[in-house]
Amino acid sequence: MSEAKNKPHIAVLAGDGIGPEVMQQALRVLHKVAPEVTYSHGLIGGAAYVKYQQHFPTATKKLINQVDAVLFGSVGGPIEATDSPQWLNCEVNSILALRNHLNLSVNVRPAKFYSSLANISPLKNHLFNACDEILIYRELLGDIYFGDKRSFKVDGQVVAEDVASYNEAQIKTIALQAFESAAQRSGKLTSVDKANVLETSRLWRQVFNQVAKDYPQVELSHMLVDNCAMQLILNPAQFDVIATANLFGDILSDAASALPGSLGMMPSASFNDKGFGLYEPSGGSAPDIANQDVANPMAQLLSLAMLLRHSLNKDAAASAIEQAIEQVLASGFRTLDISESTCQTLGTTAFTDQVLKQL
Ligand code: NAD
Repeated sequence: MSEAKNKPHIAVLAGDGIGPEVMQQALRVLHKVAPEVTYSHGLIGGAAYVKYQQHFPTATKKLINQVDAVLFGSVGGPIEATDSPQWLNCEVNSILALRNHLNLSVNVRPAKFYSSLANISPLKNHLFNACDEILIYRELLGDIYFGDKRSFKVDGQVVAEDVASYNEAQIKTIALQAFESAAQRSGKLTSVDKANVLETSRLWRQVFNQVAKDYPQVELSHMLVDNCAMQLILNPAQFDVIATANLFGDILSDAASALPGSLGMMPSASFNDKGFGLYEPSGGSAPDIANQDVANPMAQLLSLAMLLRHSLNKDAAASAIEQAIEQVLASGFRTLDISESTCQTLGTTAFTDQVLKQL
């Protein structure tokens, strides 16, 4: 996306839980495929709180303002400790604040189906085998998450309200990116909304129809979100690129990410309108498996591949990582989350060793 430089520099924000473990593996791979890329570590989340009593300290803000892209791990503590000062509002104060700070309004999550993992997917084999990859574009800074919120009493009853709102420009930003992507892929774009009920969805649909006029090569279809949830499970192969609003995208992208087999394989990228990108696994900090060398490093390695391709124009290095991972899976190596009795289960480090061998 941004101009490639001779010596690109990225920020590495490993965060909490499995974040530092999988980030360490991503940096081993980075040294191998693109040793010219330099990086600086920054603290974020609970790890930052320990040093600064802040989840998103000024030092990290300064760092991310000076780099070509951000490689992010994950943040957050164990669910049972969410009220302790280190973890209270950690996600809101760090990753959500970071997205706001960088104005990252478009989130892209690829759900890739690896043929060697057909048996661990919740899908029946014939449905799985028909799939290749689904790309979900989710608007990230509007909708019900960012509108006014309030609680008040009416006739002694507590009422809560969250306001959902979108303007045309917000919708156009994500529409343009989704159309561009669809034009470079199959030429098929599904816009998902709830236009039979919601005013924001009716505007969403209008803007998508307007943008479609500039992309005659893209076949745009509209689908209601409830139907889309069902279709993702019944017939995911019908989708190539999906574009949707913040709330619907949050839910649909998690559902889609489970179809290929595990959240631990799912990378994501978020962009602002200048093309600046932040890359992170779709999952969280997985405190239940942290510090055990069992986390799947694929999501972090594939997030690195997306960073190399989209922010540093290093397509060959990105493809090399993707192909190496595919080869490792085809050779019968797995991590615990995708283990199969006929395959060899490896830890985080040993799985990455196999990826490095392929590179
Ligand atoms: P989670 O995504 O961390 O974990 C859900 C399940 O997926 C767990 O069983 C976990 O072990 C598994 N999992 C996730 N990544 C994996 C990997 N790479 N390899 C193997 N298994 C993996 O979600 P959660 O348990 O609901 O939340 C844990 C913490 O993460 C919370 O503090 C939450 O706030 C935070 N969180 C952070 C982000 C982020 O940093 N962007 C996103 C979601 C949740």
